[in-house]
Amino acid sequence: MRSPINLSTSQHLNPMNNVIAIDGPGGAGKSSVSRLVGRRLGYLHVDSGALYRIMTWQCLVRGVDTSDPAAVAALAADVDIECRPEDGAIAYYVGGEAPGDRIRTPEINAHASAVATVKEVRDRVTAILRAMTRHGNLVVEGRDITTAVFPDSPARFYLTASAEARARRRQKEEIEKGIANQSAEAVKASLLARDRIDSTRRYAPLRKADGAIEIDSSDMTLEQVVDAVMAALPAEWTAQGNL
Ligand code: C5P
Repeated sequence: MRSPINLSTSQHLNPMNNVIAIDGPGGAGKSSVSRLVGRRLGYLHVDSGALYRIMTWQCLVRGVDTSDPAAVAALAADVDIECRPEDGAIAYYVGGEAPGDRIRTPEINAHASAVATVKEVRDRVTAILRAMTRHGNLVVEGRDITTAVFPDSPARFYLTASAEARARRRQKEEIEKGIANQSAEAVKASLLARDRIDSTRRYAPLRKADGAIEIDSSDMTLEQVVDAVMAALPAEWTAQGNL
């Protein structure tokens, strides 16, 4: 007699899609690399940092003190975030509105890492990210994707670069997008301040996960980094898709 299907194992009912997990400090190139890898494979790009930025933006809009963990925790459950697959990525809507560059300002940069230390915020964002696997295969970038959100993924990367290279890239991006016009030194100081908080916090600190593949992009072109990621993926993941 054939054994019955084990319905208690959720995997049988709801097979998990593939997840490529990419962590690293700000300005290491995670967004550009994730977007391109996603495009090559037809995987949805997921910017997890944007969710922490949305929480931060909502704190500032509602006058919540970002240095008060209890106040931030109370807000975490109350932000209405909708996630929709759009143009190869997961797009976010807050109360039906796209936040756009309102979550990319120097003011948000200055408060985001404090907000991201709060456990209730992390738990909510982690749950939102895990639920996204129902939309399809994903490339998820962030600070704790390889260590805490999807630690079992067979495709985990730690993307890094020198502080100077990261600051140069971030400064160029801010100027090109018309978000801010700060000196490279100011951008570097802001990135390093966030790195410090992100890597020393109590819950899910930024660190290279055991077994993650480290790529230092300081002297690499974007294409070279994308190729390095593609080459390290499980062969069956790259056998299909638009390579
Ligand atoms: O990646 P991005 O710079 O947009 O992230 C903004 C902030 O969100 C980071 O400085 C970090 O504090 C937080 N973050 C996090 N975990 C993630 C992604 C971002 O704590 N997975």
